[in-house]
Amino acid sequence: MSTTISLDVERLRQDFPILAREVKPGVPLVYLDSTATSQKPRSVIRAMDDFYQRSNANIHRGIHTLAEESTAYYESAREKVAEFIHSPSARQIVFTRNTTESINLVSYAWGRKYLNPGDTVILTEMEHHSNLVPWQLLAAEKNLKLEFIPVTPDGLLDLEVYDSLLRLQPRLVAFTHMSNVLGTINPAKEIIRLAHDFGAITLIDGAQSVPHFSVNVQDIDADFLAFSAHKMCGPTGIGVLYGKRNLLEDMPPFMGGGDMIKRVHLHSFSPNELPHKFEAGTPAIAEAIGLGSAIDYLTSVGMDQIAEYEHQIIEYVLERLEEIPGVEVFGPPSKYKGGVASFTLKGVHPHDVSQILDSEGVAIRAGHHCAMPLHEKFNLPATARASFYLYNTFSEVDQLVNAIYKVKTIFRV
Ligand code: PLP
Repeated sequence: MSTTISLDVERLRQDFPILAREVKPGVPLVYLDSTATSQKPRSVIRAMDDFYQRSNANIHRGIHTLAEESTAYYESAREKVAEFIHSPSARQIVFTRNTTESINLVSYAWGRKYLNPGDTVILTEMEHHSNLVPWQLLAAEKNLKLEFIPVTPDGLLDLEVYDSLLRLQPRLVAFTHMSNVLGTINPAKEIIRLAHDFGAITLIDGAQSVPHFSVNVQDIDADFLAFSAHKMCGPTGIGVLYGKRNLLEDMPPFMGGGDMIKRVHLHSFSPNELPHKFEAGTPAIAEAIGLGSAIDYLTSVGMDQIAEYEHQIIEYVLERLEEIPGVEVFGPPSKYKGGVASFTLKGVHPHDVSQILDSEGVAIRAGHHCAMPLHEKFNLPATARASFYLYNTFSEVDQLVNAIYKVKTIFRV
């Protein structure tokens, strides 16, 4: 077993009530599906509960104590997000529903204004559907060309091909910071620097990066960054779009309605200031407060400590999985990887693996993980995926491995 563990994981686990549950009598939960959604600490659950018990009111429109309180909490959550990703200003933090909506916001508002027939958009072969389909829709509507940075057999982006694709003078490079299948952490700063050298705007899908390591939008010079609260110990129903101020200022609103306007006449309106211009209608207020609380939680643990711990855990996971005959793990070596291990077991469908693991309490995911093109590339109909977060232990890795041996026994492989 690996050594220097920098987190007191056993103590951290006490913060997550769900981790104490049994899946069935006598079978404790081993939750290895945080890439799909993370579990929530008590402090986040309590922050949302407190809001509903004490301060619930709609924001921005009321001149009464509760409305003022809820507005202050909502806007303070925005400040926390800004600080967390080192945004120069909270005005550049737009609350959306999730990563998917953030990316769609850019494709609708920025893409429809600035992309023209014949323009090139560069994506990668390892994208989640949420960073593929919005661009496919726009490409069909505007006759754009989509080009893809290939994935090498060992699960890295082929940056030499990227360099040659840049010579097509793309308008946009949109890529995932960390693959939800391979676990690959892509060199965002370098990808962005090269894109900027060729005059392209960049969008980072940060759904798997922001929850797991420190992301500094100013350091990497990100133009747009999208992520979801529910993958970072926060609630579902709220996500974030960060954008550079000039880009957000120049984009038309995405949706029309209350709150996104300054003035409305029968035949016209003037849009509100940033970020409200992009937040039409009553937003997810309690969820924003939950996200703020999740950021407090992650910050108190320390993002660098979380990243380091996950690195230790994935090294151990790879070591243990690779010793099981018939198991093939996809993706790069641990050096380039976050806490995700997608694998197959020869002779057993990943759904069967997942089902038997579930009977042992081990929750993993099986399927294409919303990355069908990547699975097609590796000629795989599906994979089994175990993913790890700050609350997972080395002993849970052992339980995963023991459960896979049980699958082997049952299937005689
Ligand atoms: N991008 C990546 C890399 C993801 O892993 C996910 C979710 O799994 C998403 C985007 C979509 O996130 P959401 O469903 O929260 O919009």
